[in-house]
Amino acid sequence: MRMKHALIPTLRDVPAEAQIPSHQLLLKAGYIQKVTAGMYTYLPLGKRVLAKVEQIIREEMDAADGQEILMPITQPAELWEESGRWDAYGAEMFRVVDRHGREFCLGPTHEEVVTDVCRQFIKSYKQVPLRLYQIQNKYRDERRPRFGLMRGREFVMKDLYSFDIDEAGLDQAYQDMYQAYNKIFSRCGLTFRPVLADSGQIGGGYTHEFMVLAENGEGTIAYCDSCDYAANIEIAEAKPEACEDKHDAAAVEKIVTPNIATIEDICKFLDDTPQNSIKSVLMRADDELIMVLVRGDREVNDVKVQHVHPCLNIEMADEDFIVEKIGAHPGSLGPVGLKDIPIYADLELENRTGLACGANEDGYHFIHVDMARDLPEVTYHDLRMLNEGEKCPVCSGTIQTARGIEVGQVFKLGTKYSEALGATVLNEEGKATVLQMGCYGIGVSRVLSATVEQHHDDKGIIWPKTLAPYHASLIVVNIKDEAQMAAGEKLYAELQQAGFDILFDDRKERAGVKFNDADLIGLPVRIVCGKKISDGIVEYKYRDSDEVLEVSVDEVVDKIKDFYQD
Ligand code: ATP
Ligand code: MG
Repeated sequence: MRMKHALIPTLRDVPAEAQIPSHQLLLKAGYIQKVTAGMYTYLPLGKRVLAKVEQIIREEMDAADGQEILMPITQPAELWEESGRWDAYGAEMFRVVDRHGREFCLGPTHEEVVTDVCRQFIKSYKQVPLRLYQIQNKYRDERRPRFGLMRGREFVMKDLYSFDIDEAGLDQAYQDMYQAYNKIFSRCGLTFRPVLADSGQIGGGYTHEFMVLAENGEGTIAYCDSCDYAANIEIAEAKPEACEDKHDAAAVEKIVTPNIATIEDICKFLDDTPQNSIKSVLMRADDELIMVLVRGDREVNDVKVQHVHPCLNIEMADEDFIVEKIGAHPGSLGPVGLKDIPIYADLELENRTGLACGANEDGYHFIHVDMARDLPEVTYHDLRMLNEGEKCPVCSGTIQTARGIEVGQVFKLGTKYSEALGATVLNEEGKATVLQMGCYGIGVSRVLSATVEQHHDDKGIIWPKTLAPYHASLIVVNIKDEAQMAAGEKLYAELQQAGFDILFDDRKERAGVKFNDADLIGLPVRIVCGKKISDGIVEYKYRDSDEVLEVSVDEVVDKIKDFYQD
């Protein structure tokens, strides 16, 4: 492609809302354009990278017996009513109405539609295993679309669905996809880690997320420094840590605690440690109120709470709401004497005595609280966040944490959708059997963001060679210099002939502008026809190195061939 004619609108400044490098650089280097919140146009460079990612995914999905299909984006409400998700999916779903008043959604995912395909055509065990996939736009009206392609409201996803006659078949599909994902993300040049993950609020399932390690990731991974254990922090098991109990048998006492609103304040006031206080958190679980208790020095893990108290949405109650409901501020909450609100406590509080907690009245606390004696109705579960430096739940190693970007997820659905939609087949004995399903997603467009997060410097993007939109930048320093221009044209033709996609900078621009743009755009190789062309020499440089090599014009094609053959 001649840059003279290319739509590559590189920017001098990026909008302030672009906070992280991938968002900034994809805008700045002219890969994407924002249309509205969470919706982007992929400009020519962006589209080319997207196509590279898609191609890698296609190859690996096909190699794992996937068959590509294309389902409609627009899906009828009736299908979602069959699965019970039309109401459950909530505000993230984009809903539309046709001229007859019929309701549809723009697909946020395709379990219903693909199960409908199977129930119509798959009748016998002989027709499975079946693995169907597509690469297509998905629609989710995210609460906080941000970070460019990272969290869009319209984004490109690869979704594969597996259908098997039994759990052994599903296990195989899961393993095959797990391996295919390892290959895909390796081929994309990413440093990533599969981690155990949350299987959703309403039980069931088994799942791993593939996390690209990056500072700006929205997720946190807990992993062990000595064994294979790695999990999303949302589900990472937190074993109770031993702590010295007071064995305090005194009766509960209400004491005056003026202006005390935090665990730190109460500890100071009582000259005690946070291990001897209860952190009481009031949460809204859909339309219900619940209280969650953890040790004073711990944090509540919402996802774990949702597993114990199944609900679609969970959040901490806000201050105004707490004052209205309880008559006290959040810092004065406590479980003692609380009526009609289910209370769940973390395992670390079980059998503890001599604890302090709020009295649901500003300016007062209870002390000498004995969990078993004073709060007999409370149930105990793992409800807290695991912290860096704690013991691994599996071995005796130490837990480390890292930030990550979820680029893919593999999930055993079991019979959730096949049962609801009646996707049954006859087994070998001629008996109707519900199909076992799995679903496997990759955030194709998010891979672009994740890659740039991992591969950039202060000058721009540094594409891994498998994803670069072109193989090399070819720059003519001075287009008015006939020898330089002729050599550039010749190389451009030869490189294309040899099968390379070249971005040929033949613009009437200053050399500095051309070099800066090349660094910003981030192609793996830069070839420059400059003054030394009179000696038959061009400059040859890799984007990830500072070394500028002088190479004979005749050797360029072989050199780039070697590089891309590796
Ligand atoms: P998240 O927790 O990030 O919202 P998810 O669990 O909802 O993701 P899945 O339903 O498993 O995502 O979708 C499969 C893949 O699609 C994810 O692993 C992720 O890479 C990508 N993805 C999900 N939501 C978005 C989005 N809003 N923008 C871009 N990619 C997304
Ligand atoms: Mg999501």
